[in-house]
Amino acid sequence: MTTTSNLKHTQLFSDAANERVNTLGQRRWGGGSATMPIKYTFEGGFPDPSTFPMEALSDVTRRVLMTDRTALNYDFVGYGGMRKVVIELERPHGGNAPKDENILITAGASQALQLVYSAFINPDDTVLLEESSYIAQQIRMWKPNVTVVPMDDDGACVDELRQTLESLASKNITPKFFYVVADFNNPLGMSYSLERRKQILDLAYEFGFMIVEDDPYGRIRFKGEYVPSFYSLDSTGQHVIRLGTVSKILGAGMRIGWAIAAPDVLNALRQFKQDGGTNPFAQRVTAEFLKDNLWSHIKVVTESYHRKRDWMLDAMTRHCGDLSSWNVPDGGIFLWVRTHDDVDDAKMLQRALEEGVAYRPGFAFSSNGGGKKFLRLAYSFQDQDSIEEGIKRLGRAMHSAAD
Ligand code: PMP
Repeated sequence: MTTTSNLKHTQLFSDAANERVNTLGQRRWGGGSATMPIKYTFEGGFPDPSTFPMEALSDVTRRVLMTDRTALNYDFVGYGGMRKVVIELERPHGGNAPKDENILITAGASQALQLVYSAFINPDDTVLLEESSYIAQQIRMWKPNVTVVPMDDDGACVDELRQTLESLASKNITPKFFYVVADFNNPLGMSYSLERRKQILDLAYEFGFMIVEDDPYGRIRFKGEYVPSFYSLDSTGQHVIRLGTVSKILGAGMRIGWAIAAPDVLNALRQFKQDGGTNPFAQRVTAEFLKDNLWSHIKVVTESYHRKRDWMLDAMTRHCGDLSSWNVPDGGIFLWVRTHDDVDDAKMLQRALEEGVAYRPGFAFSSNGGGKKFLRLAYSFQDQDSIEEGIKRLGRAMHSAAD
């Protein structure tokens, strides 16, 4: 009997898996190892564990289990109660409002995104991305041609976008979609103005592409009013796929998100959703909790992130203010920081990891080699003391990389 094996799994993996393992899979920025443990992570967008409503959720869980046996079965149709929560969450936008038939519940916005890629992208199709984009790396697996749209403080620059679209049209190319994070952008922290949304939607009508509007953060607003979503502004109901999630307003571990779109678009997405239905148990627990607590819980979460933003801003001013600058986001969970030119990016990242601090470097969001001198900090996860200590250490790393 053989006890050793010469089997090389890489010879059996798909080309896509090998490509990913060999290139994309090695891109880890968080660091962390036995010799370099990360104690202060500002890297991923992890929600604040102290806001998780553990008591209430355990009550709801018991109630669901005692009253609803469908919770533990396959459910290909999805739970109507969860779609009702989505409708309520969308209500403040007015305008074109989703109905039950416009909503597909997914395993987080992440799954919704993968369904969008699968349903829309053939290799070499053109997609438009914001200059620094949350999906810059992951979308590469679908092998699109990525065209990057520059941004300013009000959103994507429409003049440049029009030029890009005209130049593509002259080559008979219609982009499949423009992916935007219009509210408290990841990673930039800013939001699109109403005017900009309307102008971009007009371009979508004129040139015939979709807008994929990904909105995990729009409800986490510290001041000001909600700005109408692209979806709500789209009077045709055909041009926008709007993605949402409970990850940042309840808990990322629920893995409950959704896509809102025209029924034929959802039908195309469904063709790629081979998973026995989005976790029927989590859908029911989530919906039964949020149907009574949606806005009050959003308030709890928003207050937490507002405080944390201020703690981080204060710490940044004291520890990093002489070597970097940043935006002040009115919501969401991210600070987008630009270091001075004399700070060496690679050295700073290494020094920060040695200090036990993780953050996401700007180039991680770039599909065209940009993003240098930028970094994204999430203030959502750490408590007050850890924000202070972590930013102090980040400041040390920044200073030692500026010599
Ligand atoms: N889109 C954006 C812009 C995000 O920031 C995130 C989470 N960081 C996601 C999608 C994924 O969210 P989910 O947890 O719902 O999969």
